[in-house]
Amino acid sequence: MKIETQCLHEGYSPKNGEPRVMPIVQSTTYVYESTDDVAAVFDDPTKGLIYSRFANPTTDVVEKKIAALEGGAAAMCTSSGQAASLLSILNICEAGDSFIASASIYGGTINLFGYTLKKMGIECIFVDHDATEEQLNAAFKDNTKAVFGETLANPALTVLDIELWAKVAHAHGVPLIIDNTFATPILCKPIEWGADIVVHSTSKYMDGHALQVGGVIVDSGKFDWTNGKFPSMTEPDESYHGLVYTEKYPAAPYITKARMQLMRDFGCYPAANSSFLLNLGLETLAVRMKQYCENALKVAEYIKSTGKAEFVTYPALPGSAGHELAKKYLPDGTSGVISFSIKGGRPAAVKFMDSLKLASNEVHVADIRTCVLHPASATHRQLSDEQLVAAGIDGGLIRLSVGLENVDDIIADLKQGFSAVG
Ligand SMILES: *Cc1c(COP(=O)(O)O)cnc(C)c1O
Repeated sequence: MKIETQCLHEGYSPKNGEPRVMPIVQSTTYVYESTDDVAAVFDDPTKGLIYSRFANPTTDVVEKKIAALEGGAAAMCTSSGQAASLLSILNICEAGDSFIASASIYGGTINLFGYTLKKMGIECIFVDHDATEEQLNAAFKDNTKAVFGETLANPALTVLDIELWAKVAHAHGVPLIIDNTFATPILCKPIEWGADIVVHSTSKYMDGHALQVGGVIVDSGKFDWTNGKFPSMTEPDESYHGLVYTEKYPAAPYITKARMQLMRDFGCYPAANSSFLLNLGLETLAVRMKQYCENALKVAEYIKSTGKAEFVTYPALPGSAGHELAKKYLPDGTSGVISFSIKGGRPAAVKFMDSLKLASNEVHVADIRTCVLHPASATHRQLSDEQLVAAGIDGGLIRLSVGLENVDDIIADLKQGFSAVG
């Protein structure tokens, strides 16, 4: 099946007389005829459902669909993108270990990796997203267990050289984890470029309608965990009567461990209702992504043509930062998100944004409706002007998430915003 078809049909194929749409299975638990039957699913939870803290039929449909879209072996949904990033690391690293992450990633992930995981004894070594092979190699330590980056970073819109990062990770015997939230599998499939694990905040384009927060982890099933660096995969799990994940579940040991151990213990699983809504978003993901890209390219070209921006970052736009890597990894477009710095700095940015009528001012991106954010007043508010410069965020910077309205209406709104600034 091609990806547009997968969006609609993967994960659920009703049999004779069954509902066309996978119902919302609103139940915490599942009934068995005998104690032996219950014992059997405890021995092998892939054989039946136990409890909705770690598996649910409605969510299962979404997991199968996303695994197929990413070209992975299996997936597990989480209650947020943050939970997906957290579990993706905790499934591999424990106190005393380290991992490498691109410095150009989502701010929430930087807090999680740089501060919270540190308190748990796991060190994150940040490196530039455009580090050379030598610089990447130099960042490794003996205890480094994984490498993490974002395909198209939020909010910097840098494009990661996934193939290079995978090559270096594999040379050190560790997996590459890619956050593919902004690109979605419609625009880039990191597993095809060598990534081993893919995570998403499904709250963004996958849901697409600003309805619910969620996340997912996808296991490519391709990484070899038996190289001696990952005893938690290859040695008996005492918390699961001595189970060895790589032996019992060779097709996708990573995601099986994440579910049977971490999801069992942490319980950050989505509600069936949320998965039902996420599935609706996924059904139209392919058509929506194409339209976001088409609209955003026109809007980026328009902003550039006004001469009222110091710079426009939209990697699909010739001349933009990241354009060369985008041609390789994101040939069909670079999502709906644009960032640009308006001439006149902070006062101009505030005037411009307050003048917009169609685009709403909110802390969200990747919505079906056009929205804008002023990082210097919102997500990066605590920083001084000097710190803002160091973080690459000037007072005039605006993050614009182009939606699916008619592009002429979006441009007309921006036009009146620019004239209000004068
Ligand atoms: C929003 C976001 C997250 C966090 O996801 P939540 O669903 O908000 O928890 C992680 N990574 C990226 C790239 C994001 O944009």
